Amino acid sequence: MLKLILFSLLFSTTGFSYTILIDPGHGGEDKGAVTLHHDGKVLREIQEKDLTLEISKKIYAKLLEKKYQVFLTRSIDRDVSLEKRAELAEKVKADLFISVHMNSSTTSESHGFETYYLDNHSNVAVKKVEDVENKNLDGDQLIIHQILTDLVVEKTVVSSKSLAKSIHLELKSNLKGFQIKDRGHKAGLFYVLALSKRPAVLLEVGFLSNPKELEKLNGESFQKKYSEAVVKGIEKYFYSGKPQKTSFF
Ligand SMILES: [Zn+2]
Repeated sequence: MLKLILFSLLFSTTGFSYTILIDPGHGGEDKGAVTLHHDGKVLREIQEKDLTLEISKKIYAKLLEKKYQVFLTRSIDRDVSLEKRAELAEKVKADLFISVHMNSSTTSESHGFETYYLDNHSNVAVKKVEDVENKNLDGDQLIIHQILTDLVVEKTVVSSKSLAKSIHLELKSNLKGFQIKDRGHKAGLFYVLALSKRPAVLLEVGFLSNPKELEKLNGESFQKKYSEAVVKGIEKYFYSGKPQKTSFF
């Protein structure tokens, strides 16, 4: 009986002790990646900002079910600057920041899911994705963000890498049935992650530019499985004892 009480105490309080901010990429004027999709009847434009919101809301709902403190940087289709997203992370004192995006490529063959954490590096292959997600920044902002990135990486890279790995492992096993390629968890230079100033990951859920993959990304069952995996990954990260309450600057 005592064990049962301890167990329920542990699990009823665990959720409340962490705050997670989910960030649906893009929004409003900023559509993110776009592609044309023919659903058999009509040709319509699919926009990254809509899919990121759908998946983010699913992750949000599942975390809420588990009694975490959880927030969205936007819950509707509207413009939110990278700075405003980061300000919110500070305001709600988020322990984790999870940014949700869709990938796109000039070739329709590219496919698969990727999980990024913030790190400085010089990987040319990743550069393209970074350019898309970091656009709307001018020269001065870039320099400031580069300096900030150095400081944030130093403080968060161990936690962020561990979080990315934990989420990615769950994605890998949860998405098996969808035959979606595992492109790995890797370092990336995403300023929204640096600005958030806390352990953070950026999820590239899949490629909008690949028609076959787009069918999956649009599907309810894929979105459900994907969101469940993200939540499992977050929980395993918390239970691993790696997280620390991050507060600096
Ligand atoms: Zn994006």
